[in-house]
Amino acid sequence: MPSKGREYRRRRYLLDPNVCPFCGADEIDASKTDAFENMMYQWVRCSECETEWHDIYQLVDFEEVVAGKGL
Ligand SMILES: [Zn+2]
Repeated sequence: MPSKGREYRRRRYLLDPNVCPFCGADEIDASKTDAFENMMYQWVRCSECETEWHDIYQLVDFEEVVAGKGL
């Protein structure tokens, strides 16, 4: 969809990250992740239009799963 801007694609993809933001196909595969400081990137590829991009995650919270020594 070349006539529509990046911001339109971005908003649509953030609402529904299960379809390719470039061609709309649902043939997308997420693979490896890379962490950088408080950001995490996940590599995603569309097998329909062959575009690759990063999904970008940001730390929003944490939860304790194993109690430590209570120091
Ligand atoms: Zn695509």
